[in-house]
Amino acid sequence: MPLEAGPVDRTTVVGGGNTVFPRGEHGKIVDAPATILTSQQRLRLNPNKDHKPDSYEDLQLDFSPVIFSSLERYLPPSMLSVDRDDKAKFMREILLKYLPHGEQNRAQRHRDYKHKIISNYQPLHRDIYTILPSSFFVPSFLKAINENTEESFRSIMSEPTPGIFTFEMFQPRFCELILSEVENFEKWVNEVKFRIMRPNIMNKYGAVLDDFGFEAMLDKLMEGFIRPISKVFFPDIGGSSLDSHHGFIVEYGKDRDVDLGFHVDDSEVTLNVCLGKQFSGGELFFRGTRCNRHVNSGSQSEEIFDYVHVPGRAVLHRGCHRHGARATTAGHRINLLLWCRSSIFREMKKYQKDFSSWCGECLCEKKERQHQTIAVTKSELLRKEDESPV
Ligand SMILES: [Zn+2]
Repeated sequence: MPLEAGPVDRTTVVGGGNTVFPRGEHGKIVDAPATILTSQQRLRLNPNKDHKPDSYEDLQLDFSPVIFSSLERYLPPSMLSVDRDDKAKFMREILLKYLPHGEQNRAQRHRDYKHKIISNYQPLHRDIYTILPSSFFVPSFLKAINENTEESFRSIMSEPTPGIFTFEMFQPRFCELILSEVENFEKWVNEVKFRIMRPNIMNKYGAVLDDFGFEAMLDKLMEGFIRPISKVFFPDIGGSSLDSHHGFIVEYGKDRDVDLGFHVDDSEVTLNVCLGKQFSGGELFFRGTRCNRHVNSGSQSEEIFDYVHVPGRAVLHRGCHRHGARATTAGHRINLLLWCRSSIFREMKKYQKDFSSWCGECLCEKKERQHQTIAVTKSELLRKEDESPV
């Protein structure tokens, strides 16, 4: 069953004439609209505060389950008692009206695509599709998450350069299981000649975990385990309001992708965990965080940092921390990537011009402006002194 591949998730390629800016993702509609356009069924103008909405977490939907739960309070009274699937269908139709036409088609195509995979693919290890902290994570990581303080996170992490955190995360057994599940998925893809969408414009190999059943699990991983850490270390880029994700596997080595060019991710926070196997090379190189406007600017010597992957170990960084991966020269390297996004941060960013709290270049510009102001003030003071009568 060959399938038309839809648009892929984009990274921003840094340098050269090939800069591609991140696009908006579906699932970003956070405000429940006040009035709706169907003649028969209208949303309420004000939410029904007494109504307790259903949870939509376990459904495969185009938009975040949270959006459905929030919108449910605006449903017309007659709809509140209907089946959850019918409510979801009704709300989905409303939400789709708010997407631009191209996005609507894209969302629909992607939904069909995912549905085709999930209804045909037989998972090998069903138990890893639901998060089970004690068998997924190493005890030190779990303990830090349960304590949920900056001190506890710091105790398991190293921050070799500002803004890059590395820590032990997955148990070896979990790494093996997920590798074997991905292998099984790829075997199935080859057998049925399914044309799958690759994770982004830069990777020709690898697979999108969200497309074959891992979406709910990865949402929980983001909410319960990455957001608490990001809230502490990345509050300036929406770390506490991460609300959607793109989760995928990348594969490097012989007959796979070799390296990865210099780029920024379409994420606020990126989790990158090495799952194995045996390999040489494949180091990550980082070159400072930048806003969209400064993505192609030079880097300072103190921004240069290289990281060597260790299986089971995670790297957590801002999506706008410019980076790339050197060639994997022997063996195979497989990594799990979770791009975490914040719709609130993206909305707020539209109205801001100065990102000096995290953009290295905005900070330089700000310091330069301050120097100039000081210089002007000084020269004015001197002039006044000269002019004043002795
Ligand atoms: Zn900037």
